[in-house]
Amino acid sequence: MISKLDMIIIGSGPGGLSAALLAKKASKSYLILEKGKKIMQGIIDTYPKGKKVYPTMPKGFEEPFPIPEVKPPEDKIPVEQYIEQINALAFEQNLNIHLNEEFREISGAFPDYIVKTDKGSYPTRNLILAFGSNIPNDLGIYGEAKTVRRNIENGEDYIGINVLVIGGGNAAADVVCSLSKIKREAKDDTTSVYWAHIKETFEINKDTARDLGEEILLGGHIKILQKAVPKIGEVDAEGIDRLYIHQTTSPANGNDLYIYQGMSFPMKNVIACIGTHGPSAIFDALNFQQITCTGTICKIAREGERLLMLSSHFETSRKGIFAIGGAISPSYMEMGDDGIIKEKKHSNLIYTAVWDAKKVMDKILQA
Ligand SMILES: Cc1cc2nc3c(=O)[nH]c(=O)nc-3n(C[C@H](O)[C@H](O)[C@H](O)COP(=O)(O)OP(=O)(O)OC[C@H]3O[C@@H](n4cnc5c(N)ncnc54)[C@H](O)[C@@H]3O)c2cc1C
Repeated sequence: MISKLDMIIIGSGPGGLSAALLAKKASKSYLILEKGKKIMQGIIDTYPKGKKVYPTMPKGFEEPFPIPEVKPPEDKIPVEQYIEQINALAFEQNLNIHLNEEFREISGAFPDYIVKTDKGSYPTRNLILAFGSNIPNDLGIYGEAKTVRRNIENGEDYIGINVLVIGGGNAAADVVCSLSKIKREAKDDTTSVYWAHIKETFEINKDTARDLGEEILLGGHIKILQKAVPKIGEVDAEGIDRLYIHQTTSPANGNDLYIYQGMSFPMKNVIACIGTHGPSAIFDALNFQQITCTGTICKIAREGERLLMLSSHFETSRKGIFAIGGAISPSYMEMGDDGIIKEKKHSNLIYTAVWDAKKVMDKILQA
């Protein structure tokens, strides 16, 4: 029987690795379980090839990265180089990681939990869930498209075809920028990257906006569609699944006549970057307390969404079990030290995942 660990960490993204580095520094026993084939599998699976990684700090945070070695450099390196940096760190620190091992469930109670995976069972005192959030939001249209992609697997596949990217945030902006660069650098590609957002304004950070501006000035074929609503999935005469999207202008001359301008793209040429939501179903299965957003309780989450309840040290309602990083973005419910519960914004950034790991470890080391 394996002896009881101080903590098991699920996921080897920036959050999980930071927790492990801090555990090692404090001479605590730990094990990281990663379902993917490689360290940082979450980032490998979701970033466009060559995407620059920014060391962005969320608004209101001034403290430097709690673990400087995990910080993406200020001179913005491509994701492949950032992954190399993290791999070198994990190797140098000889971190205890089981790759290809997927977390399934927990039994027992603090301080005697048993963590079950697809490969075995491990006794542990604490558990840190750093499994990210890759459950994409739905487009909410009829015929939604299993064929609509959520990220670019290979940017070169889009050379010579018009592509539609949907979404108003950083992830969409990154995809638009990467595709435009690939097309611009390919010879004789006159097709465009159409970038559609349901609202008039886009919400992107300064670094991403700078890259996007540069790409446009260098001649990138980016066409912006504001207030564009994906309407319906349809099959055309040739049997191709298509997505129809339209822009509405306000009622013409104040009467009830609307003017629509529509476009239809083969679904395989559509990439929807419309955000992810927290793994609420997994939190339910683990019996964590969650709160449903109703009325004006939530400013970030939508009506009916369920938010995980956490202490100021990211401890769930089950003692000794913590949730950090992308898994709890974009918001969670914090039970303050004064007993007041409120929704807390949680930016899905590398900085945030590292910062959360530090808060968790402060709590574990206090005990
Ligand atoms: C396109 C894109 C661009 C971005 N650009 C930036 C940027 O420039 N700067 C920035 O600060 N942030 C950026 N982000 C956000 C940043 O990548 C995330 O905030 C960060 O990766 C979250 O870290 P994490 O450790 O919480 O989760 P993740 O990095 O998602 O890691 C979670 C890990 O858990 C593993 N896992 C999941 N389920 C299980 C399971 N059941 N068992 C075992 N393992 C499991 C996954 O395989 C994964 O490796 C970007 C995100 C995207 C999508």
